[in-house]
Amino acid sequence: MSHDPNCIFCKIIEGKIPSRKVYEDDDIFAFHDINPWAPVHFLMIPKKHIASLAQVDGTHTDLLGRMMVLAPKLALQEGCRPYPEGGFRIVSNTGAEGGQEVHHMHWHVMGGPRPWLRG
Ligand code: AMP
Ligand code: ZN
Repeated sequence: MSHDPNCIFCKIIEGKIPSRKVYEDDDIFAFHDINPWAPVHFLMIPKKHIASLAQVDGTHTDLLGRMMVLAPKLALQEGCRPYPEGGFRIVSNTGAEGGQEVHHMHWHVMGGPRPWLRG
């Protein structure tokens, strides 16, 4: 399924639920987490509905590669200091035991001065 009408992140991509957008292209969307753990905390998602990282396969290699190349650029844009003093953390909670609550694959990108609220 490329779009799930019941999915909160699909609704954010469509603009049906408001978000603070960080980045958008044809395949990728990024927006600030509503409940940040760190001074910088945004989410990167594919526009196509993929339930989690457990569902990715070889057809997603290009998408995932582009997301990974984009992440450090967006981290700097959003205020993370440069490596090595600064940096960022990428987390993709996957499945119940992975702590996943929203079942549209997403990468948390977190950074900024310590201490953080969590993580
Ligand atoms: P998880 O599935 O556990 O990796 O976490 C889902 C994340 O989505 C949490 O950090 C939430 O704060 C975030 N979140 C949930 N709803 C929204 C929303 N409407 N806008 C922005 N972030 C959200
Ligand atoms: Zn979705």
